[in-house]
Amino acid sequence: MLDSLGNLKRTHYCGALRVGDDGRDVVLMGWVARRRDLGNLIFIDLRDRAGIAQVVFNKDTAPDAHAKAEQLRSEFVVAVEGRVVRRAKANPDLATGEVEVVAKCLHILNTAKTPPFTIEEETTAAEETRLRYRYLDLRRPRPAHNIALRHRVVLEIRKAMDEMGFYEIETPMLTRSTPEGARDYLVPSRVHPGQFYALPQSPQIFKQILMISGMDRYFQIARCFRDEDLRADRQPEFTQLDLEMSFPTQEAVFGVIERVMQRACAVIGANVGAPFRRLDYREAIRGYGSDKPDLRFGMELHDVTPLFAAARETLHLEGNVHALAAPGAAGFSRKQLDELGERAKALGARGLYFAKVAAEGITSPLEKTLGAEGVKKLCEAAGAKAGDLVVAVAAKQQMKGTDAAALIAGQIRLQLADQLQLIPKDRWEFLWLTGFPLFEWSDAENAWVSTQHPFTGIFEKDLDKLEDESRRGEIRSKGYDLVLNGVELGSGSIRIHRQDVQSRVFRALGLTDEQARQRFGFFLDALSYGTPPHGGIALGLDRVVALLAGEKSIREVIAFPKTTAAQDLMADAPSTVEAAQLEELGIAVKPKQGSKEAGK
Ligand code: ASP
Repeated sequence: MLDSLGNLKRTHYCGALRVGDDGRDVVLMGWVARRRDLGNLIFIDLRDRAGIAQVVFNKDTAPDAHAKAEQLRSEFVVAVEGRVVRRAKANPDLATGEVEVVAKCLHILNTAKTPPFTIEEETTAAEETRLRYRYLDLRRPRPAHNIALRHRVVLEIRKAMDEMGFYEIETPMLTRSTPEGARDYLVPSRVHPGQFYALPQSPQIFKQILMISGMDRYFQIARCFRDEDLRADRQPEFTQLDLEMSFPTQEAVFGVIERVMQRACAVIGANVGAPFRRLDYREAIRGYGSDKPDLRFGMELHDVTPLFAAARETLHLEGNVHALAAPGAAGFSRKQLDELGERAKALGARGLYFAKVAAEGITSPLEKTLGAEGVKKLCEAAGAKAGDLVVAVAAKQQMKGTDAAALIAGQIRLQLADQLQLIPKDRWEFLWLTGFPLFEWSDAENAWVSTQHPFTGIFEKDLDKLEDESRRGEIRSKGYDLVLNGVELGSGSIRIHRQDVQSRVFRALGLTDEQARQRFGFFLDALSYGTPPHGGIALGLDRVVALLAGEKSIREVIAFPKTTAAQDLMADAPSTVEAAQLEELGIAVKPKQGSKEAGK
């Protein structure tokens, strides 16, 4: 019953037909999206990756094709020979809506089972179902569009990098641990039983070694693997635009990325100005309560700690107090204020203090503690106008090395912006953040850890502090982050290029010389053979594409993403393997405590 493709050649994509094709004989191939049988006339929506075209089968003029069309069901694969005509009544919802194809001949190339969900722009299918049948999901316009957009963005990036003299160089997938701070994915070696490769968390060490090799400018659309707890914007394997350059100033690295980002944004028609804004990391915390501030709207934070001086005991305040003025929110109801207060408490606030500013005056429960004059000063400090709501935040618990109240206020700022619809769509606010501390204190590890990774360069003036435990938190790094619309796109740095300094950093991180040699010996050796000053950056490509596509989750721009439980539902991975495979690798799987196997 099925026809063969034979020598039949497609002339057009379904979605590409326009009114200019009127009168043309065409051959279309694709999937039956919908069939409407009106007796003498059968209409089908024929779909391919470019879109949908309406095809009409007329019993009077093409009886054979019409008879065959009666067999068509959703997702059958067909080829249609016919002629493009103008429609009597155009369909404004379809790009091809001004024309239709009058079929002369129909070839049914394949049948299809009824799909578990209808393949349309809007779907009610659960994400799990979509991922299990990702091949069907990708036939939907939006996922298909996202994949096409990703292709165009990556192509543009490659072109821009080539124009700037970068070589695309692949680095190994089977390698050893790279210190990006996550758990490694390990791959057992069959040839060397008991030994393991690690999948790269990033190409960091290799790209630095490429600079030592004299490659001068490297980039890669690099797959990275990190075994960490997943969230909406994380995947166990993800893609970076990774680059490194020799003899660069920080400005040179910024310039390269600014150009690449301008080109990537141009793919969706967004015009982005350069240079991007720059902000010191501390300024970002102080002004926005975030190390990835969203600059698409204002509502900056103000340190109002001194204004609360007299009320510290009454209010049980410990750290700083930060305030912001929410424009036009003076009319918030009791319920809205309570909800905001609850949210702040959940974020770790000791309290949230409000003042409503109206033309007639200010009303605030704080009057009892700060006095009318105190409240007035608070509103002035927050820059409030009539109609605004002033919100002040204090934290319950302080955090070593950072301002907990500012971080909570930063979250409240984002929530209010969302609630008050202050965030303009179609704005692209890029931002470079600099001035990070080299080390940060980790309560979990009870030790100083690298803020970025241990190869991050150090402000020359701070080198002396490396050996002084009490001053470790003061050391400034040569690291930088790129932020877009409140999302961290990636980070990089001018690196350490001196072997002696690199060894001192390993020591400051608590590694003995033996441990450093054992983990990074090859790299320390390489550093001692003439390493040029170098620096680079890596951007999360999935995030870049997700933002350009207007998607919240990076899963929407990855062809075959994993769930938050790190599973590929379609391929059903991870999975158990044959005993013989384990045997060959010299591996025995320990049964999980509490599992049925454990008792055997
Ligand atoms: N390798 C770093 C990362 O993956 C980026 C860099 O320092 O270039 O975050």
